[in-house]
This record gives sequence, C-alpha cells and structure tokens, in this order.
Amino acid sequence: MAEFDVDLFVIGGGSGGVRAARIAAGYGARVMVAEEYRMGGTCVIRGCVPKKLLVLGSHIRHEIDDAAGFGWTIPSATFDWPTLIANKDKEIARLEAAYTANVEKSGARIVKTRAVFEDAHRLRLATGEIVSARYVLVATGGAPNHGVDVPGIEHVISSNEAFHLSELPKRIVIQGGGYIALEFACIFAGFGSDVTIIYRGENILRGFDDDVRIHVRSEMEKEGITILTGCTVTGVDRHGEAFTTHLSNGSSIASEKVMFAIGRHPNVANLGLEKAGVAINPKNGGIAVDGWSRSSVPNIYAIGDVTHRHNLTPVAIREGHAFADNVFGKRPVRVDHSDIPTAVFSQPEVGVVGFTETQARAEFSHVDIYKTTFRPMKATLSGRDTKVLMKLVVDGSTDRVLGCHIVGDYAAETIQAVAIAVKMKATKADFDATFALHPTSAEELVTMRIPTERHVREAAE
Ligand SMILES: Cc1cc2nc3c(=O)[nH]c(=O)nc-3n(C[C@H](O)[C@H](O)[C@H](O)COP(=O)(O)OP(=O)(O)OC[C@H]3O[C@@H](n4cnc5c(N)ncnc54)[C@H](O)[C@@H]3O)c2cc1C
Repeated sequence: MAEFDVDLFVIGGGSGGVRAARIAAGYGARVMVAEEYRMGGTCVIRGCVPKKLLVLGSHIRHEIDDAAGFGWTIPSATFDWPTLIANKDKEIARLEAAYTANVEKSGARIVKTRAVFEDAHRLRLATGEIVSARYVLVATGGAPNHGVDVPGIEHVISSNEAFHLSELPKRIVIQGGGYIALEFACIFAGFGSDVTIIYRGENILRGFDDDVRIHVRSEMEKEGITILTGCTVTGVDRHGEAFTTHLSNGSSIASEKVMFAIGRHPNVANLGLEKAGVAINPKNGGIAVDGWSRSSVPNIYAIGDVTHRHNLTPVAIREGHAFADNVFGKRPVRVDHSDIPTAVFSQPEVGVVGFTETQARAEFSHVDIYKTTFRPMKATLSGRDTKVLMKLVVDGSTDRVLGCHIVGDYAAETIQAVAIAVKMKATKADFDATFALHPTSAEELVTMRIPTERHVREAAE
C-alpha cells in the first residue's frame, strides 16, 4: 500500500493551483485538488476575466460617442446592465466547466470542498475526511481587504460584489487608487454612473511611473470621474437604498453604492498553517517561500497570491508550472520575476514593463528618458479630448531599455510585445533600428531620437 493517499494535494483550484495540478498529473503524480468555491479561482470567476468583459462593454460607449466625427449617426443608444451581467455569468460558467474538464482530463481528482492542514502531511476536508499527501501545494490566493473598520463598513462592497450588482448604480463612491479601483471607476463611468474616487495618497497608482500617474489621472478627470486624493472614508451612513460617505476632509458624498478596493490580503487565515509548521512572511503576511516556492516545511510549497509576491495570474501560473517541473518532473526551473509586464484596464489603458524612472535613477548612474505625449489619430476626427503617453527609460551607460510605459488605446496589447524586447535586454539602438509601422501610435516607440531628459549622477569623490 502506498505510504500516502496522494502524491500531491493542491489547496485551491485557481490559476496557479490548476496549472500545478495538471502538470504534476502529466508527470504521473496522483493529484487531488480541493476548491471550496468555484474552479478557476479569482481570475476566472471574479477577477481578470469578468473585469475585462465589463471593460469591453463600457468601452463601447466611447466608440458610440466617437462615431459622429466619422460620419455615423447612431440613434440614442440604451444600455441594459442585467443583460451584460447575465451574459458575463454565462461565459464565466463556461470557463469554469472548461477548467474542471481540463483538470479531470489530466488525471487529477477535484474535491469541491474546503481543505485545511491537520499536520504537514495530512489535510482535513470539510466532510471530515482526512487525506494524506507526500507534497502539499498551497494555492489559496487572496481576498479583498477593507482595512481598518469604519462605522458603516457593513454597507461597503468589494470587487467580489461589484460583479453581481442587480442594477447599475447612478452614483458610486470608490475608495482606492490601485488598478482595481481605477478599472471599476472607468467601467462604471463608461456605463454612465457618476463616479468619485477617494484615495489617501498624493496621487493614484502608487508604484507606477510618476508620468503615468499624472497622465492617467488627468485623462480620467477629463472623462468626468472625480478623483479626491489626500483623504479617506471615515464612515458610511445608510438611508434606505442610498448612502452618505463621510470623508476625513469633513465633506460627504451621496451615492447608491460604496465600494472599497484598497488592497488584498493573502488567504492564510484558518488554514491550519501553524499545525503544519508553515511560516508566514512578516513583511507581507503571505506564506514565506524561497526562490523555488518552498515554504519553511520541506514538503509544503506555496505559489500565487497567497505568497503575496506579484499578484498576477501569469505569475501564479508560471510559479505553479515551475513547482510541478521541479518536484515531479525533476527539471529544476526557478521563476525569474523580473520584467513582468502589467496593465491597468482603465480608459485609457495603461501598459508598463520594467523600471520606472524613479527606480532606474536610484539604481543607475546615467538614465536617459525618451518621452512623448500626442493626440492619437482617431481623436482628430472624433474630437475626443485625449492624449497618448509613451515613455522609455534607458540606461545611458549601456544603452539598454530598462522600462517602457504607455497610456493610451491598446497599451496592454502593445506592452506585451515590447516586454519581449525588454526581457531580451534590447538596447535603444535596437529600438531605433526597428522600422516604424505607419500609421500607428506604437511607432512612436521606435522614432523617439533625442532624450527628453538626461540624468547623470556624479561619481562620489
Ligand atoms: C478584480 C480583480 C481583477 C484582476 N485583474 C487581473 C488582471 O487583469 N490581470 C492579472 O494578471 N491579474 C489580475 N487579478 C489578479 C489575479 O486574479 C490573481 O493574481 C490570480 O487569480 C492568483 O491566482 P492564485 O492561483 O494564486 O489564486 P486564486 O485564483 O485566487 O485561487 C485561489 C483559490 O483557492 C480557493 N481556496 C482558498 N482557500 C481554500 C481552502 N482552504 N480550501 C479549498 N479552496 C480554497 C479559492 O476559492 C480560490 O478559488 C485580478 C484580481 C482581481 C480581484
């Protein structure tokens, strides 16, 4: 009889867990995956995918508005939120079924239940059943974090609930300045809601390049979104179906919904990690792991958002794949977390890869900046008041392109391709040698000849 019931027990059927389970099963491992909610996890069920569907839906308003300048007369368009939500839910159910089928096809077994540690090798399912495993992979993801309690916090929704509102709010207050807050602000504004963003910092999108932060804010404000920075929500009062949000600056705002998107925390609570001896990283509250995603307990690994490293789907997938290759494929693969491209699906979109100007200037003694803002061709006829931003951050000593930052239509699609060049350590000369593709916005990336700024740090005496 085998020493353990399974070779691998995966806790969490999200992006990372599913990839690890399928690859490990492909290597011949006996795999069990526990999922307490819905297969596919955050990305598929209440993250990237439904979010992008709503973004695409709300963007159609811009297309309709822009059409007149191109000669189109479109009779007054109407929008039905319940139809969009129902269609989105149908697509999510299809994807969930596909995820389930693919895991089962790989030979892994799914148990639709919560699983927690009894000890380092034994898991307890919600049914009471105990399963023993040679290896355990914790892939439990993260969850919205509302921060400190304020009076009326029970009236506040997170992104989880925003996907299931029965009707479109006429007015919504969103606290947060990160990508989820901005994306939902633009989604609701696109559909016609009156949106106010509340953010405690000086400017939205902390951690992004300062030019990107300034540019996005100005573009969102032009679209009619109110952005209040330097203040926080201190309380929320309910009056029937409406709310009053009180702010630290003494003002208050009336709305039909109040949403917080101020951060997410790793799902480590009540998992029995202490029974298994798994250590938490004190710096971020996630499971502490080494470069191989191995926890403080040799047979327990953790990947994805529960480790709170880079909370993005492709990162969780790559970490899950690498784990399975290492442990069951005997192919040592260490995930390189540098140059991860990321997008904000605001309107306009943001796409970035590599160093911000601030990061580059802290690390390199000579940094050249190539920056341009321009009116996109479409706006010349649509009359939309919008500008594109493109910025390259270059190491002036080696000519290597360290970072690329784009705000404008298709920024995410563009940055995916630029990320290949940045990952390959392309130089500015390589960009210059590349033919422009005319007429596009992206051609600006290969036609910026003269640095707009040059930052040279004097060597210390
Ligand atoms: C609104 C929103 C938009 C996002 N947009 C993007 C985007 O555009 N691009 C991008 O790359 N990333 C995006 N993300 C982030 C992305 O969704 C996550 O990084 C990714 O899903 C992490 O995958 P994971 O496998 O670590 O965890 P998850 O996908 O969160 O999966 C964890 C799973 O574990 C299950 N679980 C938890 N505890 C237990 C337990 N004890 N027993 C059994 N099951 C358990 C959960 O139910 C869940 O299904 C977004 C996230 C949100 C919230």
